[in-house]
Amino acid sequence: MKNIYLLLSLLLFLSACDTPKKTSNEQKDTPINEFAIIIHGGAGTILKKNMTPEKEAAYKTKLEEAIRTGYEILKNGGSSGDAVVKTIQVMEESPLFNAGKGAVFTHDETNELDASFMDGKTLNAGAVAGVKDIKSPIEAARIVMTNSDHVMLSGSGASQFAKEQGLEIVDPSYFYTENRFKSLQRIKDKEKTALDHNDKEASFYDADIKNSKFGTVGCVALDKNGNITAGTSTGGMTNKRWGRIGDSPIIGSGTYANNKTCGVSSTGWGEYFIRSQVAYDISAQMEYQQKSLKEATKDVIQNKLTKLGGTGGVVALDKNGNMSFEFNTAGMYRASMNDKGDLIIKIYND
Ligand code: ASP
Repeated sequence: MKNIYLLLSLLLFLSACDTPKKTSNEQKDTPINEFAIIIHGGAGTILKKNMTPEKEAAYKTKLEEAIRTGYEILKNGGSSGDAVVKTIQVMEESPLFNAGKGAVFTHDETNELDASFMDGKTLNAGAVAGVKDIKSPIEAARIVMTNSDHVMLSGSGASQFAKEQGLEIVDPSYFYTENRFKSLQRIKDKEKTALDHNDKEASFYDADIKNSKFGTVGCVALDKNGNITAGTSTGGMTNKRWGRIGDSPIIGSGTYANNKTCGVSSTGWGEYFIRSQVAYDISAQMEYQQKSLKEATKDVIQNKLTKLGGTGGVVALDKNGNMSFEFNTAGMYRASMNDKGDLIIKIYND
């Protein structure tokens, strides 16, 4: 009898030795969604007290329409690239967001649009910057990736390329919206008052940063083949001048995707996002420090970007379908959907 107990204990011991222990990294590696999609419609001083119920409903309806567009593509086995472009196009065509129609005005009262797109499987990417007449900058960014030898095209050259590729070119007046034009006038008035008072501290961005919602749009999607794509589209910042380009068309700042780690789309004060290489830093922390998506997005936005003085946020999604919204502003228009069809739509910091 004693021998049997001894034998059983030995067998138990050996089987315990044989079972590989799960490290915390492997646990992080468990797929939780076969496909998923996450979007933003800009981050900034978005406060409930400044919002009417009608306006809030309009934003939520548009965010839902956009994300459901991408979700249906993914659910039917479509590519994350198609999901990102079609989702962003819904927001580009809405005057609510600072992208496509609804883009903010430059100091010279024009609209100059930026966009970028990245494929996490091939690490190929495309972008357009400072374009004035391409109806869908996100589509142009994708076609720069697929049909040119380049990553970024700008201004009239980008328009010429888009035209040659058969993309829709519009009269610049297509981008005019009264709201955005009035915002520019308000900011210019404040700028003039500051200059009249010889307030050298006042930057031409100050009023914009404090008083307006940004409204850039972005999307990250994971498809059933495990491919991650990220894209971002914007009109930039109100009252920008001298051909200023922000982070949105810059791969590694505004947009990044890598099937090994995650996809990211940023929104916020572009100069800080460029200096922080926000989107790539999140992927790098996951790759080199084995951080989870949540840990990496939190560190980059709440710690590094905030310490530098930058404001804004990101939406991000990893190869296992984990998703993260991270921002240090009062609000961020945002939504996500997982493979079960669970929908989250939020605006404020809750
Ligand atoms: N990041 C954009 C830019 O700086 C603006 C924004 O996201 O609101 O151009």
